[in-house]
Amino acid sequence: MPVNLLDFDTAGLAAWLESRGEKPYRARQLMRWVHRAGVAELDGMTDLPKSLRATLAGEVVVQAPAVTRDSIATDGTRKWLLSVGTGNGIETVFIPETARGTLCVSSQVGCALECAFCSTGRQGFNRNLSAAEIIGQLWWANRALGADLAAGKRPITNVVMMGMGEPLANFDNVVTAMRVMLDDHGYGLSRRRVTLSTSGMVPWMDRLREACPVSLAVSLHAPNDALRDRLVPINQKWPLRELLAACRRYIDGAASAPDAGDLDDDPVPAGLAAKWQRAGSPRDFVTFEYVMLRGVNDTLAHARELVDLVGDLPCKFNLIPFNPFPDSGFERSHPEAIVDFQGELLSAGFVATVRKTRGDDIDGACGQLAGQVQDRSQRRLRREPMEDTRA
Ligand code: SF4
Repeated sequence: MPVNLLDFDTAGLAAWLESRGEKPYRARQLMRWVHRAGVAELDGMTDLPKSLRATLAGEVVVQAPAVTRDSIATDGTRKWLLSVGTGNGIETVFIPETARGTLCVSSQVGCALECAFCSTGRQGFNRNLSAAEIIGQLWWANRALGADLAAGKRPITNVVMMGMGEPLANFDNVVTAMRVMLDDHGYGLSRRRVTLSTSGMVPWMDRLREACPVSLAVSLHAPNDALRDRLVPINQKWPLRELLAACRRYIDGAASAPDAGDLDDDPVPAGLAAKWQRAGSPRDFVTFEYVMLRGVNDTLAHARELVDLVGDLPCKFNLIPFNPFPDSGFERSHPEAIVDFQGELLSAGFVATVRKTRGDDIDGACGQLAGQVQDRSQRRLRREPMEDTRA
């Protein structure tokens, strides 16, 4: 069985080469060919010695998941359905904007966490993706979008681990893939341009801070435990007090990371910078995602509770108008309610943005990634009797 080069970060590939009696520094060359140049065939890696290419032939492949559907929405959002075998498919979404291009990457086939409002969670769970299947989404998308990293043609400037799955539940493979994203021999993205979004797996947030401190987003969605227990059930295990403490530890740890002073060219929201200065806090911040559900979590009282909850934690809010899907049981908040909610946060001195709904016509908007999941969690079986009872 050939080894897939997409499964390695540079250190892992160097160790693998060394174990085969090869020079470990060849790993850097191989990584540059595979990731920066997008080359899949050893014959195309022209500065590798012919003898090494001959040795590796038949032993290694570069294999990303195969594309089974490619859709482009009227707003330019592009979504790929990628086959990961045994009837399972994952989704990857590219969102072009004027000054950036963001790729939303999946980490699992489905998700085991069952957040009440989430289309992915509704589909059940099959398995974790391998590192190759995760970084393969970026590798494939760069090729499909005509990237030429060596020449500075970089359609994907940001990556968000916000597709299907809870990334921290697939920790090792996600960290390997993110290391390739950050590596100068890989995609060379700054850690501020790679964002991991978690529902709040507290112990793994601490591990992430040590292993690969990228930008952190937290799916908050509720300002108190009673409501969050219902919307994001993992809250029953790690309630808000523990989650907020983990966010604070993450910020403190990330601020001492090697490139913590490097704000690069990714703009920091002006209001946020002012708030940091007032608090004397580091320049990192947590993004709290908050899906706006009509009559559930979208009142002014909820907004005030949210302000009290986060206190002086350096953070910004991203308000996400709910994207309805069949039988979700939720509705999108009224536009006026979203504006009022945002206003309450702004007047308390926070940065609060409302996410534009992109790719609606291809179900590529937040919370709508639903791939093809051969559910092994028997969620549907558990849900159907409940739904029958309610009816
Ligand atoms: S919101 Fe995220 S963690 Fe929750 S079920 Fe959906 S994919 Fe999983």
